[in-house]
Amino acid sequence: MPQGKIIKALSGFYYVQADKDIYQCRGRGVFRKRGLTPLVGDVVDFDISGNMEGYIQSIEPRKNELIRPPVANIEQAVIVVSLKEPDFSAMLLDKFLVVMEAKSIEPLIFISKEDLANEKEIENILPIIEVYREIGYHVEIFSSMKMEELNSIEKHLEGKVSVFAGQSGVGKSSLVNALIPGLELKTMEISESLGRGKHTTRHVELIPYRNGLIADTPGFSSLDFAEIALDQLPECFPEFVRLSDKCKFRGCNHINEPKCAVKEAVENNEIYKERYQHYLQFFEDIQNRKPRY
Ligand code: GDP
Ligand code: ZN
Repeated sequence: MPQGKIIKALSGFYYVQADKDIYQCRGRGVFRKRGLTPLVGDVVDFDISGNMEGYIQSIEPRKNELIRPPVANIEQAVIVVSLKEPDFSAMLLDKFLVVMEAKSIEPLIFISKEDLANEKEIENILPIIEVYREIGYHVEIFSSMKMEELNSIEKHLEGKVSVFAGQSGVGKSSLVNALIPGLELKTMEISESLGRGKHTTRHVELIPYRNGLIADTPGFSSLDFAEIALDQLPECFPEFVRLSDKCKFRGCNHINEPKCAVKEAVENNEIYKERYQHYLQFFEDIQNRKPRY
């Protein structure tokens, strides 16, 4: 049975790419009994029923899925944060990183609007960039106004399934438009307060780019953050994970436990204090989270 990847879902049809061909498929319904709906990004087995048409028979287990955009099997997220307009927010950056870590999506950090910052502001951001690099993240600072700086990001997108993520106004569309003229990145719908827990069935598509695919809708919503369980949170800070073997207690939350290697590292400035404070904040937010239903 042929296998392919769903690159688009529209009006009850799933567009399945197998090699260079795209088949217009319907779901057979077997997987529906298990409450499973095919998602863009799913790898599926399908029957060919006619001229470039078919029926999806089964869905391969997913590596991950985002709620917004509704895409499965994402390999990496380009997290865009701006230096200015809106102001750089390490808190928001950490929130995005936590979501991606929780879903095993590799994050890349792209700091936009370099051209708007003066020398002093650039100087101030450099130590912060260093912090994230030391944790192991790829960090770049760029301006969509300078096309020559975009070469490096193209390389990072090679052969990967990527989403762009970031707060509204940081420059995601500008970046994507500079990379791929003609692909207008669609903006996220702000409908969370309306449809709590409901997934809006908005259209999302994976666009081929450099042997990889890019989601045409940017990622992340508070719904994705709300899915993270308390016991997952310490795992989402790689610099904590590296030390947690040295904590006295297994499953240490690095908060009230004695002989905690993470807290010691924070005291010794080996772990960036601000990240630790964000960790405490997220921990509290998750603990106080009201059940969704
Ligand atoms: P999005 O909401 O994240 O997709 O952000 P947009 O790409 O729509 O950008 C928001 C605003 O910031 C627009 O007015 C852009 O022209 C501007 N912008 C985006 N990137 C840059 C940049 O690198 N430098 C400057 N000066 N402005 C930028
Ligand atoms: Zn600890």
